[in-house]
Amino acid sequence: MPAPERPSAAPKFFVPGDAVPENAYSELAAGMRTATGIPVITAGRILDADTAEHALRDQGVDFVAMTRALIADPDLPRKLLTGGRPRPCISINEGCIGRLYSGMPMECSINPAIRNAELGDGAAAGTTADGAAAGTTADGGVREHVVVVGGGVAGAEAARRAARRGHRVTLLEEQPRLGGRARTADLRRGRQRWDLYLDWLGAELRDLGVDLRLGAPATPDIVAGLAPDSVVLATGSRPRRSSWHGSDVAVADADDVIVAPPVPHGTGTVTIIDPEGGFTAAEALVGAGWTVRTITDLPYVAAKVDPTQVWFVRRRLKKAGVDLQGQVELIRDSEGWGLLDLESDERQAIAAPDLIVLAGARTARDDLFRTLVEALPHTPVRRVGDTRAPRGLRDAVSEGAAAGNTGRFREGRPESQSGVTLTGGS
Ligand code: SF4
Repeated sequence: MPAPERPSAAPKFFVPGDAVPENAYSELAAGMRTATGIPVITAGRILDADTAEHALRDQGVDFVAMTRALIADPDLPRKLLTGGRPRPCISINEGCIGRLYSGMPMECSINPAIRNAELGDGAAAGTTADGAAAGTTADGGVREHVVVVGGGVAGAEAARRAARRGHRVTLLEEQPRLGGRARTADLRRGRQRWDLYLDWLGAELRDLGVDLRLGAPATPDIVAGLAPDSVVLATGSRPRRSSWHGSDVAVADADDVIVAPPVPHGTGTVTIIDPEGGFTAAEALVGAGWTVRTITDLPYVAAKVDPTQVWFVRRRLKKAGVDLQGQVELIRDSEGWGLLDLESDERQAIAAPDLIVLAGARTARDDLFRTLVEALPHTPVRRVGDTRAPRGLRDAVSEGAAAGNTGRFREGRPESQSGVTLTGGS
């Protein structure tokens, strides 16, 4: 096992995230046990039962602490005893420990019940006397046919929750796999646990009998042909056009360069513009041979990353040779290319980039919403996740869960039909 990375200049908070190997400290703890004879308890990315058993049986620790595993799924012990399927922690800290150390209440990015008990899984239909077999949902409501368009995390959570409640659910996903943009996350070194969560969602949907149609694009006619009682739209987002598009410099979207990094051309210099960091794209481009500069208008690159992760993120980028510049804006004027310091207005001349990569600038992919609202005037249609407004994993999961749990599928009608605006929430 590779030795855990030890910060040379310790970050303010140290809770090992995905930059540190799983089961990071059991060997060290076992060594202390041997040296002192005192029972030891170890913690640090022990995220599943097999790892815990390995630490206890093979590595010689006396107890294990599974903090984040139990935040992601407080029912983990019961599920392990009964052969259930625990929700796997993805170990990026942003929803739980990261928020805690930022002075905010602890949540969980993939388990919205930690923030709001109403967003818990609740009893599944069929576990109550009035279950789906009687034509009602777990809470006694009318069983509906719910069509979910989009199989990213928001759509998959909505489908899962609706199916658990006893609704008949059809999910249309245009790609051959569930997961949407979250599938690109696991391409970053250390983030392979994202796939565990996405695969967990898929397994849950299959067990719940969701009619899962992969590689199935959705048009208004196709959705209408399914005769839905309600529709959840989770079609995600797309890159937003910028003023750099259409210029004589190549412009690419961060997701595209992560999946298929281009071959360097010209001098091989790329500028990544990202309010939040563009970490994975930067590493992918360095790996492809580019000289990478990442800029942001925030005070520093990765300023929005939580205190437990930011040191690791910036360190990895710096060690990869990425030039990190905060509080600057890329400009091109009569003097040529430059970086404008947003505090001092000073201009730093730079060589022309051969490629500009845009990360974090996205817009909702909600074209289907208006046409569906018109085509199905009596059918509730609700947007969730990035389809409502591009944001992060936590919002996508909790909005999907809320739609599927509450059954409040109606988002809005055109004002002319109902007096409710299209953008109003339920
Ligand atoms: S927020 Fe992330 S790291 Fe924390 S418990 Fe949830 S999945 Fe795990």
